[in-house]
Amino acid sequence: MNTKRIVLKDRENPDSEQLKEPAKILREGGLVAFPTETVYGLGANALNEEAAKKIYEAKGRPSDNPLIAHIADFDDLLPLVTEVPEAGKKLMEAFWPGPLTLIFPKSSLVPYGTTGGLDTVAVRMPADPAASALIRLAGVPIAAPSANTSGRPSPTTADHVWQDMNGKIQMIVDGGAVGIGVESTIIDVSGVEPMILRPGAVTQEMASAVLGKEICLDPAIISGPLKADVRPKAPGMKYKHYAPKADLTLVEGNTEAVVSAINKMTEEKLEAGYRVGVICTDETSDLYPGGIIRSIGSRLKEESVAHNLYAVLREFDDLDADYIFSESFSRSHLGQAIMNRLTKAAGYHIIKV
Ligand code: AMP
Ligand code: MG
Repeated sequence: MNTKRIVLKDRENPDSEQLKEPAKILREGGLVAFPTETVYGLGANALNEEAAKKIYEAKGRPSDNPLIAHIADFDDLLPLVTEVPEAGKKLMEAFWPGPLTLIFPKSSLVPYGTTGGLDTVAVRMPADPAASALIRLAGVPIAAPSANTSGRPSPTTADHVWQDMNGKIQMIVDGGAVGIGVESTIIDVSGVEPMILRPGAVTQEMASAVLGKEICLDPAIISGPLKADVRPKAPGMKYKHYAPKADLTLVEGNTEAVVSAINKMTEEKLEAGYRVGVICTDETSDLYPGGIIRSIGSRLKEESVAHNLYAVLREFDDLDADYIFSESFSRSHLGQAIMNRLTKAAGYHIIKV
């Protein structure tokens, strides 16, 4: 398949003439990758089971892993669900459009091919003007998982999408780099108590404030990254998450101790003849004398760390690093999403110093 790439003239004020072709492809059951504020999505008509199947083929993803349906307007939600629970209403009002996915009981309109056989459906209303305009023009909800090959880091630029999807999909809509850089927060509001299934830019603190009480995290998020220096299977996670080609270790502790531990381990591996990467921050990048040093962003601006996270991991894959040692981040606010992605990428391998 020949993958066409169009570059948006203005992502903030998308030209609907430019979006007509991708919207038509989507409506007719084809695949189009497009930017959202979180990561690039691989879109297909969420109401068309055959189209959803093509997503799984292009990504090489197991077909019982459910997809998120993306909508452009509040009115688009009701046909997809049988009920909007109170907690869902509050969260939608506070955070839609935005980086929050909510899980509702599904209506019969949504095929099981989209929900991986579940009776619930995940729905998000992206804030990105180009994504929103494209979905509105397509006139159907758009299933859009991250536009990467299953097992690679999520794409945050159109070039990342091109690396994984060239030849497999009809079109890539290039809107430049995404803003946030990690996938949406997922909150299940279909049960008795709302629960965070995946942390993201809508943080636990933000959701709790809106709900007026502390919202719980899925136990798999909490119990995963705990014990120092052990490498258990990702608990509660059915599918293997992205893991870098290199052996990634997170080092946690006060900055001085972390820098010195990383330098020591880097030196040992370099002496043994390995290619070693170091993931550090703008504040510490001068403190590492050896290895391939990449700053993931500034500790004073955690948004920058989320924004660069997947690009840095992709770069180390391309550089064929054997070992990567990474600094750690706080586990509150946006740090919760950052540490969730980093600990998964590290197979929960954390050294406390
Ligand atoms: P992605 O689209 O790549 O950001 O990943 C979508 C994720 O959303 C899946 O891996 C699921 O964990 C989650 N998800 C989607 N639909 C549901 C659902 N109905 N119930 C629970 N989790 C869901
Ligand atoms: Mg994904």
